[in-house]
Amino acid sequence: MKLLIHNCTILTLNRAGDILHNGWLLTDDDRIDSMGICDDGTILADPDIDEVIDAHGGILLPGFVNTHCHVSMIPFRTMGDDCPDRLRKLLFPLELQAMTPELVYLGAMYGIGEMLLSGTTTFLDMYYFEDQVARACLESGIRGYLGETIIGQRTCDSPEQEYGGFEYQKSFLEDFRDNDRVIPVIAPHGTTTLSPERLAEAHDLAVKYDTIYTLHACEMDYEMTHFAEMGQTPIEFLDSIGALSRHTLAAHCIHATESDLALMAERGCSIAHCIASNTKAGKGIAPMRDAERYGVPFGLGTDGPSSGNTLSMFDQMRMMPNAQKTKYHDRSLFSAENVVRAATAGGAEALAAGHFGTLEPGKKADFQIVETRSVNMFPIYNPYSALVYSANAGNVDMVVADGRVLVRDGELTTIDLPKVKADLLQAMEPFMAAAEKYRDII
Ligand SMILES: [Zn+2]
Repeated sequence: MKLLIHNCTILTLNRAGDILHNGWLLTDDDRIDSMGICDDGTILADPDIDEVIDAHGGILLPGFVNTHCHVSMIPFRTMGDDCPDRLRKLLFPLELQAMTPELVYLGAMYGIGEMLLSGTTTFLDMYYFEDQVARACLESGIRGYLGETIIGQRTCDSPEQEYGGFEYQKSFLEDFRDNDRVIPVIAPHGTTTLSPERLAEAHDLAVKYDTIYTLHACEMDYEMTHFAEMGQTPIEFLDSIGALSRHTLAAHCIHATESDLALMAERGCSIAHCIASNTKAGKGIAPMRDAERYGVPFGLGTDGPSSGNTLSMFDQMRMMPNAQKTKYHDRSLFSAENVVRAATAGGAEALAAGHFGTLEPGKKADFQIVETRSVNMFPIYNPYSALVYSANAGNVDMVVADGRVLVRDGELTTIDLPKVKADLLQAMEPFMAAAEKYRDII
């Protein structure tokens, strides 16, 4: 299948930051074949092309890479948003009681629909019954880096014993070993929710399978207090057990110190920066200026739909520079180009993936077209600024992942969203009944 997109401004996000004005891009199955400028129209006459798509002057850029998510938490959205320590008071007990494989699958289909409609073509997820998220990835066409949560408590996928996620993850690793679009990762929950031995064991597994080791780190006040009492930071602790390496993708890092960041750079770790989630919870603004200074690769993450309440990377792109500029009182920080880079190529780098995240011949055909006809998209002096400060998910016209058109004219092609929503609502009935117990904090 060969698709030709033309009449667009192409942001390649390659190392040189090349922009092709009035550009074209040709795919060949799952890959980008070639790109160029529409100077004389000869490319349009190529007889091998299956479909020609006029982008009507839109902006063509790589699909977003969401580096931290719990997509199946859709049933929790808007629940207890203003409640301190909601995780332990509400989320953990309700998950244990009422989360099911069916809810995980339907929540994933719904959330993936939301991600595709907002230009995301790859996401990293950690949750329970992750094989159901894998099923949703295979059916929808999105690319998923998926890890079963490993945690030192009883969970919905292991109601009888702690650390059930280990066994789940081991079979998941084998089942999807050679899959091109479902990539198993190792996902211990956080620095204080597993024993040091189990955290190290999980890291060994990531090394054995040469994959990502992702966990929540430097996020919670109680986490910081716990390690401060031991005279350490969470990052120093991870290093002390051998869990800080090129495999490590630490989510949040709100309270990382400069010496933590220097250590992370030395060990080759990455960060998933989740600004909407972090600030909604009042947890703080991660030191991304310093992360960049020390050379720690980072991507943006939405976190789960109950944490940041949006699965749109446009919202993360909008909030991130505002927060950094304000935190450091410096308007020059994080140019719009750098922010778009963090949402695309930066995310791919954080996932140690060299085959997507930029638009270059030979790379995966993962891209989106953002239209420029709508009222909020005029005028455009700088396409990066338009994407970061003007655009929203509603401006996404087309999304292609792995060479397949998954969003066309702003509509999903592989997910029947009204049906998924109706099925999800029905499947949520016992969940909603169980949630009534927490009515006073919802
Ligand atoms: Zn999270």
